[in-house]
Amino acid sequence: MIGRRDGVLVAGALRSAQEHHLAHEMLTADAVHSRFPGFALPDDMMAFFEPRAGVLDPEGCVDAHLRLAEAGGAEVHTSEPVEEWRYDRGRIRVVTAKSEYDAARLAFCAGAWTPELLDDEAVDLHVERQVMHWFTPARDAELFTPANCPIAMIEYAPDRVFYFVPDSGDGVKAAIHHEGETTTADAVRRQVDDEDVGRVSRLLATYLPGAAGPRRREDVLIVSACSGHGFKFASAIGEAVADLLMKVDRPDLLPFGRQRLVSQKA
Ligand SMILES: Cc1cc2nc3c(=O)[nH]c(=O)nc-3n(C[C@H](O)[C@H](O)[C@H](O)COP(=O)(O)OP(=O)(O)OC[C@H]3O[C@@H](n4cnc5c(N)ncnc54)[C@H](O)[C@@H]3O)c2cc1C
Repeated sequence: MIGRRDGVLVAGALRSAQEHHLAHEMLTADAVHSRFPGFALPDDMMAFFEPRAGVLDPEGCVDAHLRLAEAGGAEVHTSEPVEEWRYDRGRIRVVTAKSEYDAARLAFCAGAWTPELLDDEAVDLHVERQVMHWFTPARDAELFTPANCPIAMIEYAPDRVFYFVPDSGDGVKAAIHHEGETTTADAVRRQVDDEDVGRVSRLLATYLPGAAGPRRREDVLIVSACSGHGFKFASAIGEAVADLLMKVDRPDLLPFGRQRLVSQKA
């Protein structure tokens, strides 16, 4: 947790560690630089370092919980959205896209979709758009691996926090904590625009400059239909596409790169 000593983040983490006797160290900006050289902090920032802090792999966790639930006798139904639920003569009736269920009790846990399914004015939930970004470090990639760099939250302005997770194989993760627009889970604006990227890139360039390389994108390959002459090449193109997606080196595609058009023009 990084920030001014009297900011909410460092002071709050310190108070919590003291109250609950958690192992921690307070580091000056200089101490952070010599121990974790990927960071570039101004002198008036401090770091609260917690050696036992870690990160969970949420997909792995969800998978493990589902498997354990099934092993314990639960029946798991996926791809079956709940459309409505209601009380029905002392029981609960749950209507899904596939079926209807009768239950004595219901635990309701629809996350960000809760407001749509829970017609209860007493429940005051709002959904906020959050955008996460992954970047390939621009230099010194080894400084940003979990062995050399902790997870960090940085209070970059009073009560405004940006966070960073080192590279475990998919690039470094960086995002702003909150500050997103209020929305709904279905209507959320999913396009990531230049402003979203710019805000996080600038913070990364300020506090972890070597990590601020190109932003990573999904592994989506756009394959063209090749105008009126593509069919006969389909098997060769298919093979090349499969290799590219599987990250198999394909030097024989180099003569077809977009770059050749630039050099022809020159
Ligand atoms: C950007 C971000 C960063 C976060 N970082 C952290 C962190 O560092 N540490 C931490 O502890 N927590 C973090 N959280 C919070 C954490 O993700 C949530 O607290 C947690 O996922 C809530 O779990 P949940 O099961 O209540 O809801 P969710 O994980 O949202 O699950 C709700 C489920 O309900 C399903 N559902 C919705 N509607 C229907 C329907 N009609 N029928 C059937 N199923 C439906 C959805 O598909 C979803 O699978 C973060 C959250 C965000 C957004």
